[in-house]
Amino acid sequence: MATRPDRPGATAWLPDPDHRDVAHLREAATACRGCELWEPATQVVFSAGVVTGRVALVGEQPGDVEDQRGIPFVGPAGRLLQEAVAEAGLAREDVYVTNAVKHFRFSQSAPGNRRIHATPDAGHVTACKPWLAAELVAVDPDVVVVLGATAAKALLGPSFRVTRERGVVLERETSRGTKRFVATIHPSAVLRTPAPEREQARAGLVADLRVAASALGDGAAET
Ligand code: SF4
Repeated sequence: MATRPDRPGATAWLPDPDHRDVAHLREAATACRGCELWEPATQVVFSAGVVTGRVALVGEQPGDVEDQRGIPFVGPAGRLLQEAVAEAGLAREDVYVTNAVKHFRFSQSAPGNRRIHATPDAGHVTACKPWLAAELVAVDPDVVVVLGATAAKALLGPSFRVTRERGVVLERETSRGTKRFVATIHPSAVLRTPAPEREQARAGLVADLRVAASALGDGAAET
């Protein structure tokens, strides 16, 4: 894919290779102009959780609440995810959370009107990928949980289909050796599911997270 002038990609804003711990990455990302999404957004939303976590949860992008607070997964979908993580037996101290794209993409009909979530396109995912790649190297989780199609495209390739391959442990070669990945739906998809089927969608998310907990191999999912 040709690079657009407004999407040079994040590489130029990465700290030097000796300073790519999460704290330095988070600080450096505040200056990123790797694509045009930085401009209308309030701020970069990098990551949260434990930087030595054995499980990394990777979502799509910050939402409206996250954009305002500068912290990922603090809106309604984040709350649902937190509950699902706990129900699946994953310990808080094992979990690092981040997104494939670090600025909120939205549409707005007029200033002051409600900001409507817009899915980042493949160009945004590509532009932002250096941050995600660098933080996964820094955190070095044992298992990466891929939440939804955008994160799946970033980490498992454009042809990956979450609906077909969710809830199973996949092994992929990375710069940190062979890593385990588990794909599942994004918690916002549970919230969008009509009420009669919502509980089933939520149970599916929990079941997939249990697979990730089991992949840690220490009985975490049985707690
Ligand atoms: S979305 Fe990613 S690449 Fe684009 S400006 Fe924000 S941090 Fe940089």
